[in-house]
Amino acid sequence: MSAATIDTSTREASLADGASPSLSIVVPIYNEEDSIPHLYDRLSAALEGYGHAYEIIAVDDGSRDGSFALLSELAAGDPRLRVVRFRRNFGQTAAFAAGFDRARGEYIVTIDADLQNDPNDIPMLMARAGEGYDVVSGWRARRQDAFINRKLPSMIANRLISWVTGVHLHDYGCSLKVYRADVVKNINLYGELHRFIPAVASWQGVAVTEMAVHHEPRRYGTSKYGISRTVRVLLDLITVRFLLSYSTRPMQIFGLWGLLSMLAGFVISLYLVMIKILYNADIGSRPLLLLGVLLIILGVQFIGIGLMGELTMRTYYETQKKPIYVVREEINGA
Ligand code: UDP
Ligand code: MG
Repeated sequence: MSAATIDTSTREASLADGASPSLSIVVPIYNEEDSIPHLYDRLSAALEGYGHAYEIIAVDDGSRDGSFALLSELAAGDPRLRVVRFRRNFGQTAAFAAGFDRARGEYIVTIDADLQNDPNDIPMLMARAGEGYDVVSGWRARRQDAFINRKLPSMIANRLISWVTGVHLHDYGCSLKVYRADVVKNINLYGELHRFIPAVASWQGVAVTEMAVHHEPRRYGTSKYGISRTVRVLLDLITVRFLLSYSTRPMQIFGLWGLLSMLAGFVISLYLVMIKILYNADIGSRPLLLLGVLLIILGVQFIGIGLMGELTMRTYYETQKKPIYVVREEINGA
């Protein structure tokens, strides 16, 4: 019997006991008191209609309005609602991470609290996940936000992220997404990284797809973000690119550029030495001399950074006992 078969049977048994829900909905909440009652009603209606066991994990990201009071009131009357309250505002990525850590479902659904996403899209996304996808990403095909400061930067960012990471999605920023739980539980999130989960997860060799979902304008409260988010997302993109391609072999990238730079520097310097010796040329005032010296120093530094990277990488993986691979399944012949 293969590992996969054993896995499924235990999963079904636990579902029959009602012990573990098959999906966990993770909702980040920051000052959304006006949306919460509507959100809870619409989410519950959609999920009850869907007919699978579920839990809602609401993460109150340090709200300063009545959000937490409302949530605890609702939780008192519904065992399927779990509320996590942060001490202060740690950001949407941290809120997702807290939800993922606590999720007990086989699938995790993320959704915004402001009702810009439609809970009724969840069954459709889950059906697609059931076809064998590990990540199903929502795509706000008709996004209801301002064009200049939201949709345009987002369009450029999505193109850029798709190109840089090689995982092509129209809408990285859409919160409505479905993940197989084991996929996100393996990922540590920092900064603004939650939007890159599909790209980071691709390192594990997962199947990612996208589906158009509904999107509505924000009715209550205000958006927590402005144009400044774009810069933070771009910086995170550099991190993700590095993590995806060179995190286990920093010397390969820094060392290569270091060697090339040093080689170019040596060639230039050699040329200058030759004309000095052969023609007694005045090389002290030549910009080329500066360039040669600069390239040699840069090269040495790059190689140094590569070595430091190797040390850091070993510390990172070995202290946390992180594997540098992900196994799908294993079969031991009997
Ligand atoms: N949010 C959060 N912490 C923050 C900022 C936002 O938990 O520091 C939540 C917010 O309550 C909402 C979701 O993240 O549920 C998305 O935020 P928002 O709707 O403001 O973003 P937009 O849709 O405008 O991009
Ligand atoms: Mg919103």
